[in-house]
Amino acid sequence: MEIACLDLEGVLFGEVWINFAERTGLEILKLTTRDIPDYDVLMRQRLRVLAENGLGLPDIQAVINQMEPLDGAKEFLTWLRQRYQLAILSDTFYEFATPLMKKIDYPMLICHHLIVDQKGQVTDYRLRQRESKRESVKAFKQLNYRVIAVGDSYNDTTMLGEAQVGILFRPPHNVVAEFPHFPVTRTYEELCEAFLKASANIQTLK
Ligand SMILES: [Mg+2]
Repeated sequence: MEIACLDLEGVLFGEVWINFAERTGLEILKLTTRDIPDYDVLMRQRLRVLAENGLGLPDIQAVINQMEPLDGAKEFLTWLRQRYQLAILSDTFYEFATPLMKKIDYPMLICHHLIVDQKGQVTDYRLRQRESKRESVKAFKQLNYRVIAVGDSYNDTTMLGEAQVGILFRPPHNVVAEFPHFPVTRTYEELCEAFLKASANIQTLK
């Protein structure tokens, strides 16, 4: 049995912070791990900008509630779940992602937590585990599962490397250039084909 490990933002939904930046007009919140690979530097900046502008978790959740899956994502998930076990491995937070899970029928989600005070101000964040995506893939492999992983960005590359097969979906040019060994897909049709090919290759490994 193979487990499909999918990144969330950029693969099934748009980027939460970019949507929020557009809604608030705070351009600086558009930066993602695509722009600043050091996640802690990026998160500290985001929390500072939120505090400076008096914005809290309810403001972000109001935007998240209106986000819908990317075009074709739901059909892709239906196809995928008929063939693979599904786990979403994300560097987002349960406080953000729970409203999104409702829209894709509550798959398994592995991510992190925000620290929020009584006024709704986001004061800090807690990584449940360092290198959570890669560690999750490693753990599945220790349970004798084969893993096919899909992501779009820098923070996915160690998970893609750890999996038996790693696939990039709509990655930016710099990630493609730095990690040329991962196959690149741009549509869900291409992604389905890449899964079937990956499964065929994994069979030959046995
Ligand atoms: Mg992503």
